[in-house]
Amino acid sequence: MRIPELFKSGKTVLSFEIFPPKKDGSIDTVYKTLDGLSDLHPDFISVTYGAGGSLPGASTREITSIIKEKYHTTSIAHLTCINSTKADIDRIIEEFTESGIENVLALRGDLMPDVEPKHDFLHASDLISYMKARSNISFSGACYPEGHTECDDLDEDIDNLKIKVDAGAEHLISQLFFDNSAFYRFLDKARAKGINVPIEAGIMPCVNANSIKRMITMCGASLPEKFTKLIARYGEKPEAMRDAGIAYAADQIIDLAAHGVDGVHLYTMNDPFIARRICESVSSVIKS
Ligand code: FAD
Repeated sequence: MRIPELFKSGKTVLSFEIFPPKKDGSIDTVYKTLDGLSDLHPDFISVTYGAGGSLPGASTREITSIIKEKYHTTSIAHLTCINSTKADIDRIIEEFTESGIENVLALRGDLMPDVEPKHDFLHASDLISYMKARSNISFSGACYPEGHTECDDLDEDIDNLKIKVDAGAEHLISQLFFDNSAFYRFLDKARAKGINVPIEAGIMPCVNANSIKRMITMCGASLPEKFTKLIARYGEKPEAMRDAGIAYAADQIIDLAAHGVDGVHLYTMNDPFIARRICESVSSVIKS
């Protein structure tokens, strides 16, 4: 199914993100993750591309196809473009089409200091325009409630987001955030600029203080006092941190659903246990 169809019922869409196995990991490990996640009945599952130490390319395509064919769940493949030429993308379009991939989260990818970018695609919007003219794929894009780290001004970032939507992004998934009011401010601004596609809120459960600190440094999410207090008190106590992180994420999701957001995208970090605990505590809210 094409992702935009899922938003037509008006209920809060719930989706998951997973990443492919690490470089020397077997693809079989992903079956364990998918077995644990699929009976939570997400509306769709997204598969990252070359992020988190995974092998770029083949495994993203393979796993996206497995989710659709073996787990009968809608799936979306992430795809970055900053290090690709037009010839690379032509090959990827062919492979995606052969694998029955209907949805792509089109991304620029992070600029890496030690890698000279290719110059065929400068922004995600360039990738969308190029692929849209050559395939029947449905495109989604990323958005940043507190602004992308390279953009000093949120309004300018939203102007750039409008270019991405005008290029053909039919649905947006947000960067993680811990302060729902930042997301609501962003939504108001995006809607005022005429961005009318469904926007999902990205939620990352903070269950490990060290990994979340790394993540926050990379994405620049602001930290409400309620959140910093949890880390200060439970950061060195793994079980308590996990329980507090699960409760915090569930609380965020309930507030988002009550505000009538289009959807919630849970960064599962391939951990079905955490996803299950969160989903169990919000399931009736999400379904209503
Ligand atoms: P763009 O939309 O191109 O934006 C990048 C910057 O350029 C922004 O500052 C924007 O304001 C500006 N900009 C955009 N368009 C224009 C324009 N036309 N003119 C001038 N300026 C412009 N990374 C991975 O490597 N693999 C993944 O699987 C992955 N998944 C992600 C999933 C989500 C939901 C999110 C939020 C991020 C993900 N990322 C992933 C990270 C992403 O690649 C980085 O955040 C990257 O730095 C920006 O990607 P983008 O697609 O948002 O870029």
